[in-house]
Amino acid sequence: MPSYQHITVPEGDKIEVSPSGRPQTPDRPVICFIEGDGTGPDIWRASKHIFDEAVAHCYGGKRAVAWMEVYAGEKANGVCGSYLPDETLEAISEYGVAIKGPLTTPVGGGFRSLNVTLRQELDLFACVRPVRWFEGVPSPVKRPELVDMVIFRENTEDVYGGMEVEAGSDKAKRLADFCAAEFGWKIRPGSGLGLKPISQTGTKRLVRAAIRHALEHGRKSVTLVHKGNIMKYTEGAFRKWGYELVREEFADVAVAWDDCGGDPAGKLLVKDTIADIFLQQILTRPDEFDVIATMNLNGDYASDALAAQVGGIGIAPGANINYETGKAVFEATHGTAPKYANLDKVNPSSVVLSGVMMFEHLGWQEVADTIIAGLTAAFAKKTVTYDFARLMEGATLLKCSEFARAVTDNFKRI
Ligand code: NAP
Repeated sequence: MPSYQHITVPEGDKIEVSPSGRPQTPDRPVICFIEGDGTGPDIWRASKHIFDEAVAHCYGGKRAVAWMEVYAGEKANGVCGSYLPDETLEAISEYGVAIKGPLTTPVGGGFRSLNVTLRQELDLFACVRPVRWFEGVPSPVKRPELVDMVIFRENTEDVYGGMEVEAGSDKAKRLADFCAAEFGWKIRPGSGLGLKPISQTGTKRLVRAAIRHALEHGRKSVTLVHKGNIMKYTEGAFRKWGYELVREEFADVAVAWDDCGGDPAGKLLVKDTIADIFLQQILTRPDEFDVIATMNLNGDYASDALAAQVGGIGIAPGANINYETGKAVFEATHGTAPKYANLDKVNPSSVVLSGVMMFEHLGWQEVADTIIAGLTAAFAKKTVTYDFARLMEGATLLKCSEFARAVTDNFKRI
């Protein structure tokens, strides 16, 4: 068993992973958690209560999570003298699955971002965001119930690689000169420049994960979202390689739109759409979309636009997953909301729903279903935290911890 300076390893077992990347979850899995900064401790306490109660409800003591606290953010700085200690990365890498509350991003140089570092170190290539509406949740659109999608956003490529040079710098001039000499590209002097790599490997592993998810969850379609009409060799190639993968690996169970004219005859339909049209259509006919596979930048925009449509920008869950190694980090998508820290006030649902994704990943589907049922009932009864209460007529205002108990009280009726 590995030993750490500040982390205490609990009694429990490591989650092993099958050659196909599936977690083999023991009855007492060790799972890393980071409670987070600001409102993080309030949110984590509420979420842990819901997770432990749901596991107990489903398995009556036969199974339980062995939670292992790993440090990041302000607490880590206090305990370990570093915002992101090496042993935190080592522990998450060793134990494979982690869940985290929001973390402060310190302003100023010299700090590594935990999210970016973990994504790189563990090669967590898919950012997965399910987007659905819960009855009772206030939404800015007329028919939020029509939105039920899962977004697979590629996490490691595109314009997010930090391959940029500043306008006016020597590097920018050298790169512009090289482009002019080698390719005849005329770049306006004084331009900043960046690279947008999109690879066949990166595309295919992301689209493969999206298709498998769609097949396993009985979804009808996977839509490749791209701007291939303009960026032919990056976003256009993403579309081409996505369709290629359908023919190479999924021909018996899925079919590309181009090969069936839109009639999949009972198979999973893989189609594509241009990103700007997609952003219109998720408003005008969201029920035509199911699982979405897209690149980093499109996925970033689409995730927040869709979360807003279901009123869930503050409760949207997220996960970063490598489907080949089984390693995964589940996380709140909102920030630390420091003005509400330690007031036992905020909505814990973003971490709770990230936990639902985590239990699904571990194969404890009953637990995930129980939590969803408890949350759904709490929203429908309008027993909610301040953020929803202020938008709902006739709501009962609950503290963060009271909301958690309202959710678990609903388990008794499941
Ligand atoms: P924020 O923490 O997300 O808060 C913005 C507003 O969102 C809050 O004032 C509140 O709105 C609402 N909100 C956030 N969390 C909520 C919750 N759990 N329940 C109900 N309402 C919630 O954004 P920020 O103030 O821009 O960022 C604060 C810090 O968080 C920064 O240090 C930033 O770097 C960090 N951050 C971390 C993450 C992450 O770790 N995943 C993500 C984003 C930002 P009202 O005031 O209207 O009630």
